[in-house]
Amino acid sequence: MSKLKPSTIRIGRRYRANRLDGPYDAVVIGSGIGGLTTAALLSDLGWKVCVLEQHYTAGGYTHSYDRNGYEWDVGVHYIGDVGARTRTRMMFDFLSGGKLKWAAMDDEYDRFYVGDRTYSAIAGKQQFRENLVTRFPAEKSAIDAYLQLLNKVGKAMSAYAMSKLFKPWQRLLAWPYLKLKIPSLLFRNTYEVLSELTKDQDLIAVLCGQWGDMGLPPKKSAFMVHAMIARHYMHGGYYPIGGSWRIAETIIPAIQKTGGEVFTYARVNRILLEDKKVTGLEMSDGHRIDCACVISSAGITNTFSKLLPAESVDKAGYKHLLERVKPSIAHLGVYIGLKETAEQLGLPKTNFWIYPGNDFDAAVERFIDDAQAPFPVVYVSFPSAKDPDYTRRRPGTATIEIVAPAPFEWFEKWKDTSWGKRGDDYEKFKTFLGERLMQCLYEKLPQLNGKVDYYEVSTPLSTDYFCAYQHGELYGLDHDPVRLRQTWLGPRTRFKGLWLTGQDVLTCGVTGAMMAGLLTTSAIIGMRKSTILLKRIFDSAANKQNMTLGR
Ligand SMILES: Cc1cc2nc3c(=O)[nH]c(=O)nc-3n(C[C@H](O)[C@H](O)[C@H](O)COP(=O)(O)OP(=O)(O)OC[C@H]3O[C@@H](n4cnc5c(N)ncnc54)[C@H](O)[C@@H]3O)c2cc1C
Repeated sequence: MSKLKPSTIRIGRRYRANRLDGPYDAVVIGSGIGGLTTAALLSDLGWKVCVLEQHYTAGGYTHSYDRNGYEWDVGVHYIGDVGARTRTRMMFDFLSGGKLKWAAMDDEYDRFYVGDRTYSAIAGKQQFRENLVTRFPAEKSAIDAYLQLLNKVGKAMSAYAMSKLFKPWQRLLAWPYLKLKIPSLLFRNTYEVLSELTKDQDLIAVLCGQWGDMGLPPKKSAFMVHAMIARHYMHGGYYPIGGSWRIAETIIPAIQKTGGEVFTYARVNRILLEDKKVTGLEMSDGHRIDCACVISSAGITNTFSKLLPAESVDKAGYKHLLERVKPSIAHLGVYIGLKETAEQLGLPKTNFWIYPGNDFDAAVERFIDDAQAPFPVVYVSFPSAKDPDYTRRRPGTATIEIVAPAPFEWFEKWKDTSWGKRGDDYEKFKTFLGERLMQCLYEKLPQLNGKVDYYEVSTPLSTDYFCAYQHGELYGLDHDPVRLRQTWLGPRTRFKGLWLTGQDVLTCGVTGAMMAGLLTTSAIIGMRKSTILLKRIFDSAANKQNMTLGR
């Protein structure tokens, strides 16, 4: 195999101990959207914040990379709720100072191939409903009941998020209120809820056609996350103009404004504690950064099993809590480059979800047991078609990305090898999986046969290498009902001065992790200052100016 050239897309400043300019008011571990949001919001309040990122570029799962003249995103294909003056949109505008712009996808933002049948998700609540009713006329009342349940979950989400802010004694006091506002429906199993509405397995499959957006099929996932995702995209999918790396690029200046910085190649080795109190961090080069406020956006698994001393974690009573959560499934990525534009190739601004049949859970189990079994889901995204700026940056070319689940265990035997040099048997296995994924693409878009100039395959080991997920987790912790009931998964920890943020605090998704950043900031600064901050975010002039959109 020829040597892979490193990507030239680099956001953030390369770490050197002598480039640190402390003391910092807070240090954030990880530059994903959760960490960047927390850092930017604290900076807006005048804090000097240092963000430490182990990767060569900032952004976590929002980073992009380039090779051989093409550019791909690794963890952002579409974002919902940014086509109107929603809270999500206002947050992005506030964080980026209005610099992050969005392009609408096609009205058909998702297409589901379920066996030999094809269905769509259409933008707009009414259009979404009508499209479903047309395809499933006998299920009209089930579809309406489903939409009502989505509303019910939507209404409960603020209370659920707010409950994460409470200290344990406050939660006890607020219990009657929380019980009223957060119905048990949120923590029920998705399939169970849907099968009470309809017996039509195709309809259930279509409603769950986005299960890949949280990594658990309907018989395993919590209805809350299912509903949250369905609601998130119901008004259409949007793509960050210029590529997903623009997210970090447009947020970092807010952190630098008050003297803070986002350092890359900056791996944190340990969080330092004294008597259950944070005193700072030890970097992988041995350098110590003193700071009484440390925010970990590196995920629960990294924070508790790698960064904190095991003894302190046990003593603080986390051991049995950690046993209640588990890593989400890992994934394969295929990054494809073509020497014609998206327009010339007829690529849509629609994501494809390709399923072998309507029993998603059975398909996952079959595949986990047997790598030769059909992929339980193949997700295909067309970033260059979605990005109106792509052909300016990379003229005459197009890109496609494929994502499919794959258990980390299949790759574990190569985990101690180095990236790009994992050996022939690893490459052979990768080729076997990659070629099968490419076949799925050609089946749906035969015009691409003979047009692909380049492609490469990533595995769960690539996810660990670049994004520091020890089990190649696609979405941090699994989004099952048990995880969502864990009240300790919030911004606060049992260690004074240590805070958590990112997708494990609330839910996965760029918006979920960004909202976790807002929660964490609120927990740190307290109720009074949060009220002022919220007013600034949701009333800011930048938000009023930036409401011109593609759709
Ligand atoms: C294939 C894929 C597709 C996705 N598609 C979408 C999509 O279309 N839309 C959407 O909304 N969401 C999508 N997501 C989910 C979304 O990208 C994530 O939920 C979100 O970006 C997570 O943000 P985060 O800040 O919690 O974590 P991350 O972005 O993972 O950031 C954590 C950071 O911590 C760093 N870190 C870890 N340990 C250390 C250490 N010791 N020292 C320093 N740094 C450390 C990591 O390198 C990483 O950069 C997708 C995810 C994947 C993997």
